[in-house]
Amino acid sequence: MSDGYEILRSAMVKRLREHYLIRNEKVLDVMNRLPRHRFVPEAIKHQAYKDNALPIASNQTISQPFIVARMTELLELTPNSRVLEIGAGSGYQTAVLASLAGKIFAVERIPNLASEAQERLQKLGFHNVTLRCADGTNGWEVYAPFDGILVAAGSPEVPQPLLEQLKVGGRLVIPIGKDPKTQFLIRMTRTANGFQTEDFGACSFVPLIGEHGWK
Ligand code: SAH
Repeated sequence: MSDGYEILRSAMVKRLREHYLIRNEKVLDVMNRLPRHRFVPEAIKHQAYKDNALPIASNQTISQPFIVARMTELLELTPNSRVLEIGAGSGYQTAVLASLAGKIFAVERIPNLASEAQERLQKLGFHNVTLRCADGTNGWEVYAPFDGILVAAGSPEVPQPLLEQLKVGGRLVIPIGKDPKTQFLIRMTRTANGFQTEDFGACSFVPLIGEHGWK
């Protein structure tokens, strides 16, 4: 079914593949199908497929398509994965995750963003997402452990509860930086006797605000 955004959407995916070297075809395929324009404010709908983050309500942003693709790819999801997402915002990243994994537990601290994201995801027919409004730096203990945890906001350090709620073999992808405006995209994989840490370069996210993030 045509929604009028096919050309812009496939240009976005071409850029992800050729310029940003995103190699996971499943991630590219999902982003080629999802109506990203339905996750941004009506007034800037036509900008939804551009190569940058965009403002949403409450001074927050919908992440740049490349960052969504990269973070998703780094989680190495399977159709059975249980995923915790912190900072659902518009719900776009949530929808990408929900298209690739088994069950998504999403947390957003701003009430109006949480309820709008929930409504959007419901309208689009996602039945494998449980979303709540809370401080995600505490994780979501009752649904732990997770195969993947994605944090879409920058933190000065890795929140300890998130490490505890990761399965052995599970991956946490999170932007970490002491400067509130710039971070490094970090992936931590839980091993039998600790964590393996990898750095995927500089990035810039809105701050993760909470008990184990920015105060
Ligand atoms: N992936 C989202 C990104 C939204 S920006 C999207 O593309 O739309 C990051 C979000 O993290 C913001 O909505 C912000 O309110 C939220 N956030 C910040 N600190 C948080 C916390 N402690 N718990 C849950 N959400 C948080």
